[in-house]
Amino acid sequence: MKTDICKIIVENPYPEVGIKAGQFFGIMPSGRSNKLLRRPISVCECDENTITFLIKVLGEGTDELSKLKAGEKLDIMGPLGNGFDVDGSKKALVVGGGIGTAPLVQLLSELENQGQRNVRTLLGYKERPYGLDLFGKHTNNLLTSSETLAMPHKGYVTEFMLEALKRKCTRWYMHVDPNLC
Ligand SMILES: Cc1cc2nc3c(=O)[nH]c(=O)nc-3n(C[C@H](O)[C@H](O)[C@H](O)COP(=O)(O)OP(=O)(O)OC[C@H]3O[C@@H](n4cnc5c(N)ncnc54)[C@H](O)[C@@H]3O)c2cc1C
Repeated sequence: MKTDICKIIVENPYPEVGIKAGQFFGIMPSGRSNKLLRRPISVCECDENTITFLIKVLGEGTDELSKLKAGEKLDIMGPLGNGFDVDGSKKALVVGGGIGTAPLVQLLSELENQGQRNVRTLLGYKERPYGLDLFGKHTNNLLTSSETLAMPHKGYVTEFMLEALKRKCTRWYMHVDPNLC
């Protein structure tokens, strides 16, 4: 099946610099891009060896990134932004939409490191959900919804938030598709 979602895993260029969930990098293919500017892409997962990016192809910049071959070099700048202020002492609810769900994988990993496993996580998509294998590493308390398909729930993710909020979480984290903000 053709998909407009791709995953890029790069060697972490700055293993000594701590990267926080919610931070992003500016990236573009090194030396051969048609673009003037790097594209901002969130850290989906990282450790001291690698950084994983999840990318939705929208225009030329993301298309170039999706066509990178294994071993090719990236022009990369970051980490940028402040990231989430993660507090594992408070029961969390994690909510995301579209490609804005990408940084929530690292967020769940950080919550896990602070003692919260299986955090209630609600993910909303326009069509078919993606990236669920990445989330499955950190939580099996996952609900996905789609605006157009019953996979398994049809509707906006915000509809499911109201029910989840009744479970008295004390801290919630939300991240939506930055292109739609
Ligand atoms: C802080 C930050 C973090 C981000 N993290 C990620 C990430 O982890 N993964 C990721 O894939 N993207 C992420 N993005 C979005 C990503 O940076 C853009 O999708 C990318 O810069 C688009 O560049 P492009 O050259 O491919 O498309 P462009 O040439 O800039 O746009 C192509 C065309 O698509 C249209 N378009 C743009 N967005 C949409 C949309 N949502 N729906 C329909 N049409 C649209 C534009 O209007 C334009 O006509 C992030 C953005 C920000 C600001």
